[in-house]
Amino acid sequence: MNLTAENYFSPENQLTYIGASQFKSFLFCPAAALAEIRGEYRQEETTALLVGSYVDAYFEGTLDLFRAKHPDIFKRDGSLKSEYVQAEQIIQRIERDEMFMRYMSGQKQVIMTGEIAGVPFKIKIDSYHPGKVIVDQKIMKDLEDIWSPAEGRRVPYWLNWGYDYQGAIYREIVRQNTGDTLPFMIAAATKQKVTRLQIGQIGPARLDYCLDIVKHEAPRFAAMKRGEVEAERCEQCDYCAGTAVLSEIVPYMEAG
Ligand SMILES: [Zn+2]
Repeated sequence: MNLTAENYFSPENQLTYIGASQFKSFLFCPAAALAEIRGEYRQEETTALLVGSYVDAYFEGTLDLFRAKHPDIFKRDGSLKSEYVQAEQIIQRIERDEMFMRYMSGQKQVIMTGEIAGVPFKIKIDSYHPGKVIVDQKIMKDLEDIWSPAEGRRVPYWLNWGYDYQGAIYREIVRQNTGDTLPFMIAAATKQKVTRLQIGQIGPARLDYCLDIVKHEAPRFAAMKRGEVEAERCEQCDYCAGTAVLSEIVPYMEAG
C-alpha cells in the first residue's frame, strides 16, 4: 500500500512501519508505544504541540485544512486564541529570515519508505532538497540545555528529544531511495516572547552512532509489535502510572 499524507499515520501503517517518532516512543517506553499503536492509549494533544503543528501547517501550505480540523483554536468571536496569535508571530519572524526560509524552501512533506535491519521504516521530510540536504522544522519552547535524569547531566535540546535518532533514520532511508548520504539539519524556532531562530546540523558521526542503535533495537521493537516479545514498562511515564496495579506497601524512610 502506498503511503500518502492521508494514510501516513493510519493504524495499519503505524503497525506495518516504524517511523522516527514511533522509534523514539519505543526507546522511551515500549509498553506505552505499543498501547498507542493498538489505540489503547493516546498521548495528550497539548496546546504546546498544536502551536507547533499550526506553524508546520503554514509552511506546508495546509493551514486552511488545519484550521478547519481544529475549531478550538478560535475564540467565540472568531479571532485566534492567544497561543495561536503567537504562532502567527513565529511565522512572521521566520519569514523575515532569508536563510531560514531558504532551508524551508525544499520539497515539503516528502514521504519515503525503506528497511533498516529488515524492519520496514517510513519517513516524512519537512523540507527536502534532493542531493543537498534534509531539513526538519522544530518549534521549541526554547533552545536551552535540558536536565537528563538518565545521563545525570544537562544535554542539548536536540539530544534530549532524540532528534539525532530521527536524523539517523531520515538520512538512511533517503540514502536507500536515492543513493545520496545527505546532511541532516534542524530549522528551529522558539515560542519565547521574542522568537529565537537557529539552523543546526547534527553531525554525521552522531548519526552513524544512532543508526547503529536503530539497527540493534528495531528488530526487537518489531517483534513487540507482532506480539512475540513482551513490551517492557518504564514505570515512569503517564501510561505506566495509569495502568499500574498496587501490590505492595512502600516503607517510608526518613532519609531518601
Ligand atoms: Zn512507561
